[in-house]
Amino acid sequence: TDPDRWQAVDLWFADHLLPVDPAGEAALAANAAAGLPPHDVSPLQARFLGMVAKMVGARRVLEIGTLGGYSTLHLARALGPAGRVVTLEFNPHHADVARANLTAAGVMDRIDLRVGPAHDHLPDLAAAVEDGSEPPFDLIFIDADKPSNPVYLDWSMMLVRPGSVILADNVVRDGRVTDPDGDASVQGVRSFTGMVAADPRLEATVLQTVGVKGHDGFMLIRVASV
Ligand code: SAM
Repeated sequence: TDPDRWQAVDLWFADHLLPVDPAGEAALAANAAAGLPPHDVSPLQARFLGMVAKMVGARRVLEIGTLGGYSTLHLARALGPAGRVVTLEFNPHHADVARANLTAAGVMDRIDLRVGPAHDHLPDLAAAVEDGSEPPFDLIFIDADKPSNPVYLDWSMMLVRPGSVILADNVVRDGRVTDPDGDASVQGVRSFTGMVAADPRLEATVLQTVGVKGHDGFMLIRVASV
């Protein structure tokens, strides 16, 4: 197989399995028009995220890396009106586009979009869970700067409960993850993987993906205890 085949298969399944999604398509179009990098999850992957949220019965989701809010939209829809997605975005321009997309899609009232480096917001979120003023997160989606994945895992462990799920995108990186001399993103994913493997509280697997996003993958982590 080759990338053209992967794309054709992705589009075929998307065509058969996904509902028409005018708000999602409008968000992707707005992201492109605003010059955002095309780093959103694919439509099939967005549905996967929403389904994981439903399967864990999530009420509260943390996303690290909003971009234009395409994944955020699918997470918010999966939670329903009583749910809450806290989403962290470094880049103010990305955050502005996301806010407009999520408002147009009618879900902004269930979203808490915080702008700035995730590292600046994670301590506040952890303090709120620690002192009981906010419940832990049922699902955390890590999809920002990959060199920081180890830091995001450390903070995530202060934000979850037994049974929570952590998903990390882009852990395969076109296969480069196996290269010990890989770039900073590869090093981030490799350290993150080592931390997950060494933590007896966590159970994890990786789903490699090919499709419109090339060759990549998700790490799916279940928190057994905290
Ligand atoms: N989750 C989005 C989706 O699927 O639609 C895609 C997110 S994109 C892969 C990564 C985003 O993380 C970018 O918008 C980038 O600006 C943001 N980012 C990078 N470094 C960050 C940081 N330190 N804190 C928060 N966000 C960061």
